[in-house]
Amino acid sequence: MFKFKSLTLSKPLHAPEIIPFSSLTASPAITLGSIQPHLHRQPIQIQDTHFLPISPDPRSLVYALIQCRTTTQIKQAHAQAITTSMIGNLGVANKLVYTYAQFRALDDAHSIFYRMKERDNVTWSIMVGGFAKIGEYENCLRIFRDFVRSGSRIDNYTLPFALRACRDTQGLNIGVEIHHLVYKSGMSSDVFVSAALVDMYAKCGCIEDARKVFDKMWRKDLVTWTVMISGYAECGNPEESMVLFDRMKEEGIVPDKVTMVTVVFACSKLGAMHKAKMIHEYILSKKHSLNVILGTAMIDMYAKCGSVDAAREIFDAMKEKNVITWSSMISAYGIHGHGRKALELFSQMLESGIRPNRITFVSILSACSHSGLVDEGSKFFHSMEKNYLVQPDVKHYTCMVDLFGRAGRINEAVELIQEMTVEKDEGFWGAVLGACRIHGNINLAENAAKSLLELRPRHSGYYVLLSNIYANAGKWEDVAKVRELMTGRRVKKIPGWTWVEINNKTYQFRVGDKTHPQTEQIYDMLKVLSEKLEKAGYVPDTNFVLHDVDEELKAGFLYTHSEKLAIAYGLISTPEGTTIRITKNLRVCGDCHTFTKMVSGIVHREIVVRDANRFHHFNEGFCSCGDYW
Ligand code: ZN
Ligand code: ZN
Repeated sequence: MFKFKSLTLSKPLHAPEIIPFSSLTASPAITLGSIQPHLHRQPIQIQDTHFLPISPDPRSLVYALIQCRTTTQIKQAHAQAITTSMIGNLGVANKLVYTYAQFRALDDAHSIFYRMKERDNVTWSIMVGGFAKIGEYENCLRIFRDFVRSGSRIDNYTLPFALRACRDTQGLNIGVEIHHLVYKSGMSSDVFVSAALVDMYAKCGCIEDARKVFDKMWRKDLVTWTVMISGYAECGNPEESMVLFDRMKEEGIVPDKVTMVTVVFACSKLGAMHKAKMIHEYILSKKHSLNVILGTAMIDMYAKCGSVDAAREIFDAMKEKNVITWSSMISAYGIHGHGRKALELFSQMLESGIRPNRITFVSILSACSHSGLVDEGSKFFHSMEKNYLVQPDVKHYTCMVDLFGRAGRINEAVELIQEMTVEKDEGFWGAVLGACRIHGNINLAENAAKSLLELRPRHSGYYVLLSNIYANAGKWEDVAKVRELMTGRRVKKIPGWTWVEINNKTYQFRVGDKTHPQTEQIYDMLKVLSEKLEKAGYVPDTNFVLHDVDEELKAGFLYTHSEKLAIAYGLISTPEGTTIRITKNLRVCGDCHTFTKMVSGIVHREIVVRDANRFHHFNEGFCSCGDYW
């Protein structure tokens, strides 16, 4: 027998109280009190009962319910159903539950549902779906569990709603149980159910399971393709999103705007300029107009693919812009280190009458941070509430810590941390730890790392950052302790990847990679570079050996970090003077940063690196980030 073993919900869904009926109004001819004592509180004269049947029968009452436009009207029909005992008719009761649920009066719907002596699949699916639609997932799953236990036959109306409610780690366990149930009941080939399973696995971050279900589907609709494309982008594999997008088109499925926004988002994660251009051309060829959502997504895409100018062209071409559009463009200038332009755009935004919101202030503060505009940033931070009624939240505080940290004003950061009353989250402590990384404030770093490890005990990056801080301070015993802790907790490290675009193709490298057909030439190039660099005074920075930990621990792999391999490949496969663009999924390490700076000076090439945090434009031995990142 199927059981929801893992379904332990915090608050039980109690039998409804009688209160929801208190506002029930009655028709003049009826004294509800004589039938339902609890409805006696306020016998209200009904003004508007013309929609109710005069000589009611179930069918006309159901028809009346279809006509209902307000909850008051539903309550009137409800009252009539009670007084005429038609509430016991399954069709009437179902329609009442449905109508209440449509108006999102789920308490009322549930109180009828709870009293129903007879229920069919329609009743169950209305309730399961009703709670799913308003995001009350616990209640949705609880009712679904009762549905399964009632012995009713599950169907493809109710199942997708229940699956929609499984969307995190706890939900995943239930989702897997439901999947078993689907399998046992022979519904695996149902398109709606399969689509919901794909969606469930993707939302829970189990992209491989989603893919398995997806591949087995004999017919895939546009929504399912979109879910799969978006799932890959969300879980950090935008390459596969692009592959799927091409396959979808090959199979003759025509993407709509929602799909295109998803694809644009995936491309922004991939950071591949030639893909961005292809997508842009495709959008133009299909005559998709640049509405606010698609246009804004494209600004973000071009910015993250390395061209702030292309982003600006889209921005200028958009007829309608909202506050998110402006904020995205400000943020685009920010991540490319054009702080002044970000500030200018902010002024223009105010002049055009758009009110900044909390997202705008995150964009503007982080732009100040990336460009080291400390005083300007502080001014915005202090004026946002006073002048624009936007209360600083943890994201704004995070930007400020970053801003002070990068500028070396660590004491001001500490003061801010002590002053703030909003709850600190992972991103905030990450910024504190980052600030400490640059300035080696061990006490604060430990404090931040402990908070982070409490919040995310399995996130490798924080162990790495803490250990780098200890390494910088020469505290090798502590470095060893962090390493032990990582092993003990079996922390999974996120593997570092770097992508490089050569002749409109993307190549992917990981540390120590030897899978590329031109591996020999790549390593020869690295050797040549390292000799030249050492002559120029470069000393490998072994403090960063914990970066990308897994592999580096095995040997002195500093020279084969994925970004170095990608740069070497870029150098051997493009003509002199060509800009090399690479994308790294993690924060670029200190050693690779120094390496890239020096290489840009020796080979006289511009190297643009996008890491998890920002863009670095390397040129003639310098980086646009000013060595703060
Ligand atoms: Zn590195
Ligand atoms: Zn840099």
